[in-house]
Amino acid sequence: MRVINLASGSKGNITYIEGQDKKIILDVGLSCQETIKRLEKCGVSPNEIDAIIITHEHSDHIKGLDIFSSRYNIPVYAHQKVWQGLEHKLAKVRIENRKLFEEIFTIGSLSITPIEIPHDVSCYGFSFQENDNKISILTDLGHTNDRILNAIRGSKLVYLEANYDRQMLMSGTKYPFSLKRRIDGPNGHLSNLASSEVIEFLCQTGTKQIVLSHLSEENNSPLLAYTFITKELAKRGIIEGKDIKIDVATQNIGAFFRLK
Ligand SMILES: [Zn+2]
Ligand SMILES: [Zn+2]
Repeated sequence: MRVINLASGSKGNITYIEGQDKKIILDVGLSCQETIKRLEKCGVSPNEIDAIIITHEHSDHIKGLDIFSSRYNIPVYAHQKVWQGLEHKLAKVRIENRKLFEEIFTIGSLSITPIEIPHDVSCYGFSFQENDNKISILTDLGHTNDRILNAIRGSKLVYLEANYDRQMLMSGTKYPFSLKRRIDGPNGHLSNLASSEVIEFLCQTGTKQIVLSHLSEENNSPLLAYTFITKELAKRGIIEGKDIKIDVATQNIGAFFRLK
């Protein structure tokens, strides 16, 4: 399995996942043109994409979806609950390309498990498994629970939301209080502190690589998220670089991971 994040954050999210026989993108949160450009930079032609999977209906996850899917005739997979809010935003995706799922499904040799996560609209994280390799992608969630943690247990690589620094969010003057409350609430986004708690669990259950994802441009920065989280982990005896490796995804094309 090969994975590369093409964009991450409130301005757009796309992750490219390649199995032995299929090429997938998770979310199309940039314009069709920008999505093509980024795929080509990674040596992938848009014609090669076999499937698109959608986490939820927010525009930072579907901006280029309608045009990209219709132009290249690519099936779009979304959970039945996500389709309810997504359908009216799509005019061009062909009927035969609208693929609903409710539980675990396969695309080629990839086994894909949807994980329902708490957000202000129906939203799913995913685990992708091929042979002994498992990766999970978990962003846009207000909190975690045992069900979610169990679903990502055993992943070698996890793209995990670290959306905001709580102090920055609360002391900032740009956002109205209602928006701050939404972000910080149980159906909003994951803070750096909450993210560090998930990483502690993942480290104890064998995960070796984390990519901090979906960082807020207003209320976080790659350096702050990395520093805050590695310090929190160090307090609990977990040393970044030794016990677990942590990278940060941004709006630019990120690091490339290959799992054998
Ligand atoms: Zn988002
Ligand atoms: Zn969202």
